[in-house]
Amino acid sequence: MNAQSPEYESLWSDTLKAMQESLPPQEYELWFSALQLESVEEEEIRLTVPDSLHRDRFSQKYLNKLQGILSDLTGTKVRLSVSIRKQATGSRALVPETHRKALPKKKTQVPPTLSADYTFERFVIGENNSFAANAARAISKNPGKAYNPCLIYGGVGLGKTHLLQAIGNDVYREFPDLKIAYVTAETFTNEFILSIGQQKTHQFKNKYRSVDVLLIDDIHFLPGKKGTQEELFHTFNALHDSNKQMVFTCDRPVSELRELTDRLKSRFSMGLNVDLQPPEYETRVAILRKKIEEKGVDVPADVIELICRNIRTNVRDLERALTNLLAYADLVNAEINLEVAQRRLQDHFSSPEQKNIPVELIQRVVAEYFSLSHTDMKGNRRTKAIAFPRQLAMYITREITEFSTTEIGNAFGGRDHTTVMHACQKVQDKIRTDDTLEPTIQYLIRSIKGHGS
Ligand code: ADP
Ligand code: MG
Repeated sequence: MNAQSPEYESLWSDTLKAMQESLPPQEYELWFSALQLESVEEEEIRLTVPDSLHRDRFSQKYLNKLQGILSDLTGTKVRLSVSIRKQATGSRALVPETHRKALPKKKTQVPPTLSADYTFERFVIGENNSFAANAARAISKNPGKAYNPCLIYGGVGLGKTHLLQAIGNDVYREFPDLKIAYVTAETFTNEFILSIGQQKTHQFKNKYRSVDVLLIDDIHFLPGKKGTQEELFHTFNALHDSNKQMVFTCDRPVSELRELTDRLKSRFSMGLNVDLQPPEYETRVAILRKKIEEKGVDVPADVIELICRNIRTNVRDLERALTNLLAYADLVNAEINLEVAQRRLQDHFSSPEQKNIPVELIQRVVAEYFSLSHTDMKGNRRTKAIAFPRQLAMYITREITEFSTTEIGNAFGGRDHTTVMHACQKVQDKIRTDDTLEPTIQYLIRSIKGHGS
């Protein structure tokens, strides 16, 4: 902005204030938030807006009125002009969200909040993820009609964000008229809080209740956030009532989210729930090959094998190992071979047998997962909310360490070894009746091992 005189600037802001007071807040926001003051000359104030549609409607609706206010304030006639401003890169945000709908559609390949890398073409399907991937594909071919709502859950680095955004990208391409919102639960929460502070909650509501496809990533961020949960609950109902597609991701089955209201839990789990498991060896190889191909580099087969045999946790870790290796080879101008890889990736490979994972670490990870304190793991309280996580922690300790049941009992507040055996039995029984438990246990074990390395 290159307005010449501060006096005129304040004159202009007074004009805007008067305008704002005379309009419903939503309307003001819609038409004036994208307006910029370009320059102030003696008898002319120049304004800019993002596009011609905005310019035409704006001029038609408000120009006379603004001029009236201005001449009231100055006592003389001031000319007002509105032109289209040159778009700086990334300036799409200047267009108020609520207005986007009305703008002529000039589609690029990817909607602004999505990454172009996350497509179905780039997603390798294996046994571990085929259910989720196929559901995601079906949704993107038929938004609002197949599997609605859908929840994709699984541990870190297994492709939740990739699939969720692939849905967004695909719908964007196939159904250009549909309005898509992709947002992480964290951003959703922050935006909501911000809208309260700025007294713009109605706009927030509008924004999310007017979409055709709502994609919310990482809803495990929501527990404890009461107000946001309430808001999301109503958003959910509004969209569901009008058959709008919703897809969510979560790092665990929704039933395991504590401090999430029951009614929201039931909403999340009412449609299709699909899980992502860690990829098995063959899929890891296929994924790594794909990443290598995408980067256009050469990596010998024995190196690929080495990486995939040693990294079993998740795809992100696989990618990291590859990136690290490529960066190294590039840096020292070395050829990538088995020796280099072995030396270089030592730190990425966790030893296959981690005999002595501290029990304390297991207790902490399990406690944290269930929002309990570490002392609950060792204490005497027997409410179900504590007793089961405690039993689970004992079971996991038995599974992944070499400690005896006596040692485990001791570590859990001096319990008898028969208590530990009983706990393990209970968990085993429950695994048989509760489908979500095994994935949860695998997730916890991965988290525990992740902490150790
Ligand atoms: P999450 O959201 O579950 O933590 P991401 O979706 O961020 O995981 O995936 C982590 C990384 O692994 C991303 O770069 C993603 O592209 C990649 N990835 C995950 N699963 C696959 C797959 N099946 N095929 C190709 N890439 C994958
Ligand atoms: Mg993610």
